[in-house]
Amino acid sequence: VRARVMQVDHSPNVTYEDIGGLEEQMQEIRETVEMPLDRPEMFAEVGIDPPSGVLLYGPPGTGKTMLAKAVANQTDATFIKMAGSELVHKFIGEGAKLVRDLFEVARENEPAVLFIDEIDAIASKRTDSKTSGDAEVQRTMMQLLAEMDGFDERGEIRIIAATNRFDMLDPAILRPGRFDRLIEVPKPNEEGREIIFQIHTRNMNVDDDVDFAELAALADEASGAEIKAICTEAGMFAIRDDRTEIYMQDFVNAWDKIQAESDEDPDTSR
Ligand code: ATP
Repeated sequence: VRARVMQVDHSPNVTYEDIGGLEEQMQEIRETVEMPLDRPEMFAEVGIDPPSGVLLYGPPGTGKTMLAKAVANQTDATFIKMAGSELVHKFIGEGAKLVRDLFEVARENEPAVLFIDEIDAIASKRTDSKTSGDAEVQRTMMQLLAEMDGFDERGEIRIIAATNRFDMLDPAILRPGRFDRLIEVPKPNEEGREIIFQIHTRNMNVDDDVDFAELAALADEASGAEIKAICTEAGMFAIRDDRTEIYMQDFVNAWDKIQAESDEDPDTSR
């Protein structure tokens, strides 16, 4: 069970250079996650505890997972990922045990960055429904809080959680000593979008007429994940046309296509 829900990556290959438009967020992650891993003695000498857990929140596909991977890469830490939804929906009755396992694996692989995606699945505000699933979700969350609370020698393990639904979170997890550092990860602005286009076309054979600033203006509201999809799709248009060079028009067509798809099914808009 463990192996199927936990993703353990000893050398994640994402670096800060792969992330576009999140300068402030990167800066904050470096202070709150990287510094305590790299220079724990700084915090000891100053006499403060580093933030326990960092919560990244914002729309899907904006780079939350990338940020967690990049910090693990930068600090030569093991990246351990688990999705909240898998903790409670996949193996009914196993949630609390999986949380214990998760921390055990982290301790065995120190230094480690523990990334809990979709934390809202185990830490939603209590709802009215009294289904039996709720008790299980509660137990899973209590276990997570217990692990975090009893975690004084936390030095070599940093915990990052992520959610697309900040409004749904149970305030209990945001208390001091828990996820007490909140970092918003929004969709990129125009400048950010241009950088993300450049990042994702680094290895692509783009024609000189391709204007990333214009694409960034055009792809208003696109997330990082959608920009990546536009680039891939533009490449597909070239291939369909039996070309190896990608033109501006391919990107424009790709954006049209991706917009049409996300209008059809909002779930695939990532
Ligand atoms: P979710 O909430 O859906 O888990 P997320 O915020 O964790 O999303 P990521 O998994 O980090 O999103 O991003 C998905 C993909 O989209 C990345 O692998 C990357 O290719 C691209 N991407 C997203 N944001 C950015 C960004 N800021 N810069 C560069 N690429 C990005």
